[in-house]
Amino acid sequence: MELNARIPEGPLETKWQRYRSTLRLVSPANKRKFDVIVVGSGLAGASAAATLAELGYNVSCFCFQDSPRRAHSIAAQGGINAAKNYQNDGDSVWRLFHDTIKGGDFRAREANVYRLAEVSVNIIDQCVAQGVPFAREYGGMLANRSFGGAQVSRTFYARGQTGQQLLIGAYQALERMVGAGAVKMYSRHEMLDLVVVDGRARGIVTRDLVTGEIKSHAAHAVVLATGGYGNIFYLSTNAKGCNVTAAFRAWRKGAGFANPCFTQIHPTCIPQSGDYQSKLTLMSESLRNDGRCWVPLRAGDTRAPNDIPEAERDYYLERKYPSFGNLAPRDIASRAAKEVCDEGRGVGPGGRGVYLDFKSAIERLGEAKIAERYGNLFEMYERITGENPYKVPMRIYPAVHYTMGGLWVDYNLMSTLPGLHVLGEANFSDHGANRLGASALMQGLADGYFVIPYTIGDYLAQGGFGKVDTTHPAFVDAERECRDRLQTLLDIGGTRSVDSFHRELGALLWDKCGMARTRDGLQEALRRIPELRAEFWRDVRVLGSASTLNQSLEKAGRVADFLEFAELMCRDALAREESCGGHFRLEYQTPDGEALRDDDNFAHVAVWEYRGPDQEPGRHIEPLVFENVKLATRSYK
Ligand SMILES: Cc1cc2nc3c(=O)[nH]c(=O)nc-3n(C[C@H](O)[C@H](O)[C@H](O)COP(=O)(O)OP(=O)(O)OC[C@H]3O[C@@H](n4cnc5c(N)ncnc54)[C@H](O)[C@@H]3O)c2cc1C
Repeated sequence: MELNARIPEGPLETKWQRYRSTLRLVSPANKRKFDVIVVGSGLAGASAAATLAELGYNVSCFCFQDSPRRAHSIAAQGGINAAKNYQNDGDSVWRLFHDTIKGGDFRAREANVYRLAEVSVNIIDQCVAQGVPFAREYGGMLANRSFGGAQVSRTFYARGQTGQQLLIGAYQALERMVGAGAVKMYSRHEMLDLVVVDGRARGIVTRDLVTGEIKSHAAHAVVLATGGYGNIFYLSTNAKGCNVTAAFRAWRKGAGFANPCFTQIHPTCIPQSGDYQSKLTLMSESLRNDGRCWVPLRAGDTRAPNDIPEAERDYYLERKYPSFGNLAPRDIASRAAKEVCDEGRGVGPGGRGVYLDFKSAIERLGEAKIAERYGNLFEMYERITGENPYKVPMRIYPAVHYTMGGLWVDYNLMSTLPGLHVLGEANFSDHGANRLGASALMQGLADGYFVIPYTIGDYLAQGGFGKVDTTHPAFVDAERECRDRLQTLLDIGGTRSVDSFHRELGALLWDKCGMARTRDGLQEALRRIPELRAEFWRDVRVLGSASTLNQSLEKAGRVADFLEFAELMCRDALAREESCGGHFRLEYQTPDGEALRDDDNFAHVAVWEYRGPDQEPGRHIEPLVFENVKLATRSYK
């Protein structure tokens, strides 16, 4: 597998500008001769589909939700970063670049991250022009708040609904193109396979989730913007529908999968309340602007929080990381929470919780100001827990939130499979081993609005596309395989529900490949996952038929893929014998419990190659070269 990152020559600051001007172009009259499939209508997919259609390409866009604007991006709460420096607090493109590289524990590509920081400023202008109602200061300037891993305020937001407002902006741009006939929108369609002809991605096979119809779609290029796979853990802050199927199927067709074990654990989620809970709820990182994390000083202290005097509280983040305090990055804040809970100082049922307390902010700013900033989040918390966070501190605990791993892409956002481009959370991303808060929305929109519109033209302009339509044997075979697989799932007629397998897999992964990982634990998971998978294919019970709406069948297909992909995650975590960002191997830590990187042996992206059903996947590496930042031990102290 060749891993040519295609990083342009020249100084970091001018790479993208110069490169853009050298990319091949497709003339306006020829653009309509090219068909492009975009799978996904979240921020990455909707922005890409709208922009490509606006440029003149024939676009087909797919999502499994009933409307493109129900993509998971709608859930994003806290905000989106951009180096506008409106606060005049010392921000710059360079600083955003540096914070992102450092936040990712030096496991991302310099050139891509710099470009991300550079176009961040354009994103805000684009969204404002679309009418996205960002919060504003009294004088009319856009407001900012702070997020973890930064000492400047660069996060633009729309109360606690930033993703929703940004998605409405992208969605209306998309719908405009649907109305103009430039995009054909396929809602409630799930991509089940990628079709490769002569070594190039030439189409997909989908299932109409309402009628069950299996159908092929051919194109000159395929763009996957299918989101992250955190839902593999069963309990996560992701929407229940999030899955790995599109990316995993593309992997099996030849696209390299990068750093699959890099998972982000978010420190501030509502703790699990029971064994049969189906998902977890995020409490936005923005809350750490004003909320203070603490636990009782003494282990086993069961007093109500308001009865514990100041002197008997441990504001552990402020104590351990005085320069960043409660705004320490997510991986660090999550581990710190786990550590105090492991010491027996956790609060709430089972001792798996810490307090996020707004008392001093309310005293300083007043309840109205806090409600103005976070009102909808406070209301959501109260509805779920029955506790009023204006009166008693929130209880929070880390949970799976985002996946930095994804399909490997070069500087053009093209995978190792020519013609297959990957955007947003689905690619292996610019976030290295840990994503900073408010950077996912930035990346998805950078990819969709500002990168792919240039780079896909370069690919299409190469030409050499033979005439391929859906009668090609590659499509016929892929369709047949999809049908057979669904029928096999229905025919098993076993005794266990799909959910019971998913829950068991999730618990195993959380235990062995979650916040802390060890060689023994990962080896044990690698033994157990194939057993669980075999049990699934022997004993799962999927009711109904393939020719109607059948959510149980949809879920079964996704869980079947999770059961294979889980193995790749564990293999990757086992092979990376260091700790970095969210990948914390207990064997590799500093004396004070921080992640201990091994730059000599692991300053690289690990890219996995599929080699066949019963073959071990191959591990390749893309060395990461740091010419502009100094590889240093991260310090937020
Ligand atoms: C609760 C929560 C809050 C967050 N808050 C923030 C925040 O404040 N700031 C921030 O920067 N990030 C935040 N994030 C992360 C961010 O929301 C996501 O990383 C980002 O929205 C992903 O966008 P995307 O376009 O890549 O994918 P998604 O929005 O997940 O969209 C995926 C699309 O792909 C489609 N799809 C997937 N598989 C298939 C298939 N097989 N066939 C057809 N269609 C398919 C789906 O239908 C959907 O349209 C948050 C995440 C969560 C979970």
